Amino acid sequence: LDLKNEDLKKLADLGQGNGGSVVKVEHIPTGTIMAKKIVLIDAKSSVRKQILRELQIMHECHSEYIISCFGSFLAEPNICICMEFMDKGSFDGIYRKIGAIDINVVCLVAHSVLEGLTYLYDVHRIIHRDIKPSNILLNSEGSIKLCDFGVSGELINSIANTFVGTSIYMSPERIQGAEYSVKSDVWSLGITLVELATGSFPFCDVEDDDDNLSDLDDQYGTTPTHRDSFAFNKKKEKRLSKRRSEGADLQGEMSLSIIELMHQIVREPAPRIGPQFCEEAQEFVDACLAKDPDERHSPKTLLV
Ligand code: ATP
Ligand code: MG
Repeated sequence: LDLKNEDLKKLADLGQGNGGSVVKVEHIPTGTIMAKKIVLIDAKSSVRKQILRELQIMHECHSEYIISCFGSFLAEPNICICMEFMDKGSFDGIYRKIGAIDINVVCLVAHSVLEGLTYLYDVHRIIHRDIKPSNILLNSEGSIKLCDFGVSGELINSIANTFVGTSIYMSPERIQGAEYSVKSDVWSLGITLVELATGSFPFCDVEDDDDNLSDLDDQYGTTPTHRDSFAFNKKKEKRLSKRRSEGADLQGEMSLSIIELMHQIVREPAPRIGPQFCEEAQEFVDACLAKDPDERHSPKTLLV
């Protein structure tokens, strides 16, 4: 498709991330509904063209476990990526709405993600690099697909936000500076599965000394979900804005608490799911969350 901004009618906002925002649009000439991701980038025009070339590979991805791409184009100063619209959204939104996700559905998520990772790696030699609930999408046909994979190194380098690439789903070896490997994606999958099955992000104890959670509980309920990654960020924002109003100099504050969390990921034993889940599920999560990447299983053995 020859995509132009003029042909795309905005229907709704779908969400906002660190690197940009996503809107539901209709491509007027064909009547196709799409999700348009708008990424604000900070790069020279030669680099922008390079990014577009790199994004071409998304067109060559044909798998039922990968979001398909209609095309991407420059709309200065943004890059727009038009992809398949998934009407049930991402799994972070789903569990926030309904709470912990049934373990049988979590199994389907694991299966689809592993199929997607295997496809990306075997066929295109791509490592995803950003497995997390917000990048796993569902539609009402029951398909589960991956989006936002690391096709473009230049794009990652050019996104105008310092926190891009710093993720709370990062593996211990990656935090310690190792190169990305498929095994790092397996770690992120493990954290994601724990989060979906229990309804809360597993690493938030670091914030528990925070004396100021009661009003957040009012907002998000007193269920364990108040410790999920969303609440983690909200808590941090709240604490920062309180300190800012007290006149504190907050340079570097945000990254400091991310560093606390990263320390915990590296030092503490990996999270597990409890005995309320069947042994196979516990074993599977343990196989994803071996702290030593050499002991961690590959997507292929996990599929088996
Ligand atoms: P981050 O920027 O940290 O990666 P994120 O993944 O939430 O966070 P975006 O990738 O910008 O940020 O996506 C924002 C939201 O848009 C997602 O949480 C998801 O709910 C929604 N979304 C993204 N792609 C689609 C799609 N193809 N169909 C439907 N909803 C989508
Ligand atoms: Mg995303």
